Amino acid sequence: MGIKSIKDLDLKSKRVLIRVDFNVPLDENGNITDDSRIKAAMPTIQYAIDQGGKVILMSHLGRPKGKVNKAQSLIPVARKLSELLGTSVNMAPDCIGGEVKEMVDSLKPGEVLLLENLRFHIGEEKDDPEFARELASLGDVYVDDAFATAHRAAASIVGICRYIKEKAAGFLMQGEVNYINKAIREPKHPFAAVIGGAKISGKLEILENLIAKVDKMVIGGGMAFTFVKALGQDIGKSLVEDDLIGKAREIMEKAKANGVKFYLPVDCVCAPDAKATKGIETTTIQEIPSDLMGLDIGPASVTLFGEALAGCNTIVWNGPMGVFEQKDFAKGTFEIAKKIASSKGLTIVGGGDTDAALHESNLSDKVSFVSTAGGAFLEMLGGIELPGVKALES
Ligand code: AMP
Repeated sequence: MGIKSIKDLDLKSKRVLIRVDFNVPLDENGNITDDSRIKAAMPTIQYAIDQGGKVILMSHLGRPKGKVNKAQSLIPVARKLSELLGTSVNMAPDCIGGEVKEMVDSLKPGEVLLLENLRFHIGEEKDDPEFARELASLGDVYVDDAFATAHRAAASIVGICRYIKEKAAGFLMQGEVNYINKAIREPKHPFAAVIGGAKISGKLEILENLIAKVDKMVIGGGMAFTFVKALGQDIGKSLVEDDLIGKAREIMEKAKANGVKFYLPVDCVCAPDAKATKGIETTTIQEIPSDLMGLDIGPASVTLFGEALAGCNTIVWNGPMGVFEQKDFAKGTFEIAKKIASSKGLTIVGGGDTDAALHESNLSDKVSFVSTAGGAFLEMLGGIELPGVKALES
């Protein structure tokens, strides 16, 4: 079913209610330490301003769980927004209620009002109909640009769509949905998925869905060791999910049945623990010493994975190849980032750690698309219909 774009709506002099994801990290003094989520929503906000809309922005920040917590106020975001937009952004004391309504009513075309943290109300996360109706009453049209929250059935995302006549996706939302759909619905083959990170448990659904779609599955990170153990090999002290060994075996059998080339690391960088700066050695995957753990893929795996990815026309990547936060165990992740960035195919990267690794190596603009989302990106890759996307369908 179709989803309208913000460009399909007439915004002139309308109250344009935009759900954004301003869930930014704050330090103890309330300073924003990474404003990329605010910047990511700027094209939509600027467009609404340029079209003469009266712009009302709403977001959550943190997990206040229905209680007002000053440390999770969006006031620092209003300040940052004013700076980025070059115009003063008004801050509402709440997200619903009489005073907020008055502030909305006095907005002039091109002006921007930021509502206070939606999660100060318990109704937001519960998708309470009354709360959703009150939010909806603040706008003439609704635009959802919060892809990173699209996997949550919240009032400002799902319930609100029942009470507002016109709804559409913002540019960020549209980009995310289009790119991820392109990869999972109509991929150009050969199609490879590179999946890493600590554990299989959070990623079972994507692994199971992707195994039916990809030509190649490349596994790195801590999760690789559950697969290696499932093959009957010793993995020393490496991270393992013993209860998922059966599942890992099943996934590999499915890969075989579907003709999917399944790649596991052939060597790894080992150490006594993830904080170690001494006792680090590189071994083959068959010879991990019993007192060490695998913390990064080794150089032979980088070469192998690189060869597997060369010539692929679609690559999706989620999850680091090792404990990339530590210099000694970061190389595998950065090397794979380079291989993916040099691909001529469609390359889609998502998940907080993976984005961070790409950013750190200045490669973000060398891939086709970097998702701003973690959970929503994974769920959509896993073939799960996102409530926030479904709600926008007309
Ligand atoms: P995830 O959130 O599941 O994508 O996992 C990301 C985390 O996995 C990062 O913080 C990495 O430090 C961690 N990680 C990656 N490889 C390993 C490994 N071999 N052993 C332990 N942790 C790992």
